[in-house]
Amino acid sequence: MAHTLSTLAYLVASILFILALKGLSHPSTSRRGNMMGMVGMAIAIVATLAQPGMRVGGIGLIIAGLAIGGTIGAVVANRIQMTALPQLVAAFHSLVGLAAVFVAAAALYAPTSFGIGTPGNIHAQSLVEMSLGLAIGAVTFSGSVIAFAKLAGRMSGAPILFKGQHPLNAALGIVLILLIATFVATGGPAWLFWIIAILSFALGFLLIIPIGGADMPVVVSMLNSYSGWAAAGIGFTIGNLLLIVTGALVGASGAILSYIMCKGMNRSILNVLLGGFGAEAGGAAAAGGNAGPARPVKSGSPEDAAYIMKNAGKVIIVPGYGMAVAQAQQVVREMADLLKKEGATVEYAIHPVAGRMPGHMNVLLAEANVPYDDVHELEEINPEFAEADVAYVIGANDVTNPAAKTDKSSAIYGMPILEVERAKTVFFVKRGMASGYAGVENELFFRDNTMMLFGDAKKVTQQIVQALQK
Ligand code: NDP
Repeated sequence: MAHTLSTLAYLVASILFILALKGLSHPSTSRRGNMMGMVGMAIAIVATLAQPGMRVGGIGLIIAGLAIGGTIGAVVANRIQMTALPQLVAAFHSLVGLAAVFVAAAALYAPTSFGIGTPGNIHAQSLVEMSLGLAIGAVTFSGSVIAFAKLAGRMSGAPILFKGQHPLNAALGIVLILLIATFVATGGPAWLFWIIAILSFALGFLLIIPIGGADMPVVVSMLNSYSGWAAAGIGFTIGNLLLIVTGALVGASGAILSYIMCKGMNRSILNVLLGGFGAEAGGAAAAGGNAGPARPVKSGSPEDAAYIMKNAGKVIIVPGYGMAVAQAQQVVREMADLLKKEGATVEYAIHPVAGRMPGHMNVLLAEANVPYDDVHELEEINPEFAEADVAYVIGANDVTNPAAKTDKSSAIYGMPILEVERAKTVFFVKRGMASGYAGVENELFFRDNTMMLFGDAKKVTQQIVQALQK
């Protein structure tokens, strides 16, 4: 009876996790999605604690772990800046990987508790699952630590490349497969378990160091996927259905997200994984991307911009990474509200890779209570730029750069872009002439219909709001 109830509870939790993912696919349903995920997790925890055969001491330990981990998680999540979310996610993934390693070790040393055999005599199938979970978990751990360090600026974001890197990684991968086969064939000796763990830690480290900072968010999403597969592998070992389902959900959704991000940046996943991207780009970005003689640009004041927008019929706002840095979303909405009062139509154009993580701009706009109906994806909004009087590009750069369409040698060639240049007037709000993440100069800055509004995104927009209010 207790077993049937716990299976039922796991089923309900699995359904809630699936609904959570579905909810998270649109801003208007994402809160509900989050809530479903939380309820699902609460049911999963209670059902696990109520499992038949659970000892009081074990329950106490789990609750203590939950209290300590939960408190740390809540404090960190509360304090974190939105722009630092990618590194926080990377740090969390490292913990998932490490947890998989620990659970695999627990299953190896106490197989009877998991019903997978006796010490020294563990079922072959469980040894396969355990070693795969261990290897993927360890790769996820060390890979995520490097991703965290690169994203948080604790180590250089530039790719670290050396001769023979790819053959070395391939050889390490093959050795690992052979060791796992030996581990299973020889009944799972502990010394081999730890050798697999150490080599997998090394592989995770070696796989991620050649990947440049610009590709790190894709890597984070891939590591997310790995952590899911590691959890699923361990779920098989310890015979926990919910862990298998949840791990598979995380694994599959992470893989799909990586694919979508690569598509948005026009990169192949193999190209990202082989690394090296951003080596030259980083240099150009650091140098400001403005090599060569200075070309004249037209710059204006916030008052000029306010005057032009006051008389506009249609304004399209294009947010980018700079808006996130300046935390300008609230004041952007205030500006949009004032323009709407003046009779203008105001819409927002979101590029799939604007900012530094998927959905970055959607989250910021939702935080500022921008109506969802005003927010449009790239394919939907691009035809509308030709009818717009103003494109207000705030802290976005690469996602508008026409070099993506015209310059085959460019790092962003092939990336779909927001065609802001088709608007009558384009305002670029940014602090200077620096290039964006890809380190590519944006030729739009020099066009006749462009007006640069130099300054911090929030300050400039605040000044426009003040001018509109006058
Ligand atoms: P970009 O990185 O191209 O440009 C951002 C611009 O914001 C910079 O040129 C900078 O110019 C400006 N800026 C920075 N701080 C401020 C500030 N306080 N006020 C005003 N402006 C500021 O951003 P985009 O969003 O256009 O493009 C995203 C890039 O990130 C793409 O290359 C994409 O491929 C990459 N990327 C995105 C991922 C994602 O998932 N979203 C994942 C991986 C990579 P200045 O210094 O002159 O102010």
